[in-house]
Amino acid sequence: MDIKTKITALAILAAATCAAGEAQRKVMVCMDTTPTSEVVRAQAQASRMFAAIGVKLGWRCSKSGSQEAIVISLATRAPENRKPGELAYALPYEGTHIVIFHDRVSKMAPNQVPSVLAHVLVHEVTHILQGIPRHSESGVMKAQWDSNDFAQMTWKPLPFTDEDVDLIQRGLDAREARSLLASNHVQ
Ligand SMILES: [Zn+2]
Repeated sequence: MDIKTKITALAILAAATCAAGEAQRKVMVCMDTTPTSEVVRAQAQASRMFAAIGVKLGWRCSKSGSQEAIVISLATRAPENRKPGELAYALPYEGTHIVIFHDRVSKMAPNQVPSVLAHVLVHEVTHILQGIPRHSESGVMKAQWDSNDFAQMTWKPLPFTDEDVDLIQRGLDAREARSLLASNHVQ
């Protein structure tokens, strides 16, 4: 093994160890809806997208330790006052609730629905984790996806930007500190 190969091998090992360590960061998500095959497929894809950045989603509604689950509801009809392209909303400052407009997501081509639903889930959960209503120029955290983005997400998930990932990690630190504080208050 020459020195260059050795360094590459070490770098891969370090990255793998690091990813494994970060994967311990768990986020509980409760989907307040019937688990149709479309919902189950979307959940699986959303889990893979977060796993790629070292965050493990736990699809459970019950409380796990001191951590409250993020609650996602599917609204059968988007309220009249919502902008036409809007597919969901989150309450980042409140930190718990997400509402997805199922009627709007369902209007996509049937083969697109699970991946669009997965991306909406990931986008809104990211707002909650970051704790601020911000968007990126590209990728899953773009304010509004265009037809190219919708076409891409059916075969390859839209990525997080480096800044998205950084803010998620910082948001997770803040959430963990808050829930620890809250559990200490209860005792
Ligand atoms: Zn958004």
